[in-house]
Amino acid sequence: MTLTGQSLIGAASVRGTNGAFHGVDARTGEALEPAFGGATQDDLERACALAESAFDAYRETRLETRAAFLETIGEQINAIGDALIERCMAETGLPRARIEGERGRTIGQLKLFASVLRNGDFIDARIDPAQPERKPLPRVDLRLRNIALGPVAVFGASNFPLAFSVAGGDTASALAAGCPVIVKAHSAHPGTSELVGRAIQRAVLACGLPEGVFSMLFDSGVAIGQALVADHRVKAVGFTGSRAAGVALMKIANARPEPVPVYAEMSSINPVVLLPGALAARGAAIAQQFAASLTLGAGQFCTNPGLVLAVQGEPLRAFEQAAGAALGNIGAATMLTPGIHANYRRGVERLAANPNVERLARGTEGGRFDAQAALFATTAEAFLADPALRDEVFGPASLIVRCKDLAELHGVLKALEGQLTVALHLASADHEACRMLLPTLERKAGRILANGFGTGVEVAHAMVHGGPFPATTDARTTSVGSRAIERFLRPVSYQDLPDGLLPVALREGNPLGLTRRVEGVIHREESLDD
Ligand code: NAP
Repeated sequence: MTLTGQSLIGAASVRGTNGAFHGVDARTGEALEPAFGGATQDDLERACALAESAFDAYRETRLETRAAFLETIGEQINAIGDALIERCMAETGLPRARIEGERGRTIGQLKLFASVLRNGDFIDARIDPAQPERKPLPRVDLRLRNIALGPVAVFGASNFPLAFSVAGGDTASALAAGCPVIVKAHSAHPGTSELVGRAIQRAVLACGLPEGVFSMLFDSGVAIGQALVADHRVKAVGFTGSRAAGVALMKIANARPEPVPVYAEMSSINPVVLLPGALAARGAAIAQQFAASLTLGAGQFCTNPGLVLAVQGEPLRAFEQAAGAALGNIGAATMLTPGIHANYRRGVERLAANPNVERLARGTEGGRFDAQAALFATTAEAFLADPALRDEVFGPASLIVRCKDLAELHGVLKALEGQLTVALHLASADHEACRMLLPTLERKAGRILANGFGTGVEVAHAMVHGGPFPATTDARTTSVGSRAIERFLRPVSYQDLPDGLLPVALREGNPLGLTRRVEGVIHREESLDD
């Protein structure tokens, strides 16, 4: 499949004339062909106009039609074959097995949302029938359903070029909700983006949907992405990336005459709490698992364990030694972009230069753009006094905070910003301590896990990949799992509308066979008359 470097605007492919850029081979730093043309304001205008005109028809498509559409996207991605894997490997430096796994995950996410559509519960149909005889006043007939928000702008992540990018979780959940999607392609993997974007374009055509359901724009700077978020036709934004960019987009969305939600997943250091019982019983084994989690994907996971908290003493000293030794046995891996590599090196140098930070270990060295793992330690006192120690260093670097006792450890947790995950390593003797910490952990994180690490985010119904700011801009939501669809929906209530004018989901006789809440009670596939 030949790459063209063109933006995809509805059914058309358009060569952007607003500057140009190349994908870069992550291992060598050399430019890859072809050049990608930056979209113009006219291209953006056309994509937004098409999305707006597609919206009303698309959001009322049958649930089965949208489910089949998502599955067709998956089939089209699969049909690209090895060309997708090879381009993605070149652009990201990630190994084949990881990219193939991520392709499976991406298709799996699309299938998950197809099943969410067939199930229909996301519509949240509620019916409070009229009570004309009610005294002192009759009650009106009220019916509620969720509808799609409107066109959604999606900014993919550099670290998941498939599962959090063009056809990733944000796109899948927005399309499932009934929202047309305009993707701002990530400049770190433009070729991968074009291949996947074209797969979606083919699926739109194959399913007979309005062309404006999907567009994708390349941007040689940040202007088009920002203009997209500012456009009055865009009604929500999905984003994964840096805190600076996420906050910039949130400010733009809030400054609009009609502010819209920005669901940005940004920055998290994912504390790992080693409780005394677990540390004493199996510190060496935890150290091995920690080193593996820290270096997974060159540490480029938003759930990477960037912070370890434990009570000082011999078991912690043994853990530090074992973790340092384990890092020395793990090969270095290429980072996603030379820019991310340079950021990582700066972050590690900053930590190493801090007089209150001790350098414990470095991982193996590798090629020019490989990440060398780094493990540091400091005291709770120093950590609490220096906010810079709480900043995310994106890559395989972690900081151990030595606490005097559990009370001090609790104090450190209380001082942290919002997190995607907190991992507790515990033995049965630690349950009391856990009980004490849990209320604080719930206030800090979207996911609390025991005896494991946050890397590896299951795509499931009960998953929360989110958390208080700055982990995300909206702690009420998740960007992974079936609940992600809720970000792109809003409730509408219909009062006393004649049955023939009601949306089909709310009509008498339950024509869609939905599970509906009648007078607050869940009814499965039953009509109101039953
Ligand atoms: P990024 O710089 O935040 O870029 C993400 C997307 O936002 C890209 O499409 C980018 O455009 C766009 N963008 C960047 N700055 C913008 C601005 N001011 N206004 C409008 N759009 C903007 O993220 P990245 O390049 O993927 O990685 C850079 C850093 O982000 C990493 O070093 C790491 O610290 C962090 N990161 C965090 C996570 C996480 O999950 N927590 C994931 C990935 C990265 P371009 O494509 O044109 O650059």
